[in-house]
Amino acid sequence: MYDNNNIFAKIIDGKIPCKKIYEDKDVLFFEDINPVSKIHILGIPKVKCVDFSDFISGYHKDVVANFFQKADEVIEKLGIKENGYRIISNSGVDGGQEVPHFHIHILGGEKIGAKIR
Ligand code: AMP
Repeated sequence: MYDNNNIFAKIIDGKIPCKKIYEDKDVLFFEDINPVSKIHILGIPKVKCVDFSDFISGYHKDVVANFFQKADEVIEKLGIKENGYRIISNSGVDGGQEVPHFHIHILGGEKIGAKIR
């Protein structure tokens, strides 16, 4: 069940500020408030979805594809394509998910090594 009061829903609604990297009507990419690497960006689709599986199974493939294509454009814009990066999506209790709105972490700007988020 999607919680309309989760912090990312409030960020999408503009009720809580964020440092935007890219936004359009469907997606938002912004800086993580507690970065674990030199570049640490969060990417979210604006549709209501709790986690990865909820997003994939709940929305049309065009919506899903658009989100990941936009993520790739952001990666290009960040200048981290050549050196590499890591994409993570935590899901549920075992995955360590804190915010119940599907999101990806884009980590880069340095060697990420064994760091996980
Ligand atoms: P997860 O554990 O995958 O749910 O990650 C949630 C992420 O959201 C964490 O890396 C937090 O640092 C980040 N976060 C929480 N609140 C905010 C906020 N207001 N602005 C930006 N990032 C946030």
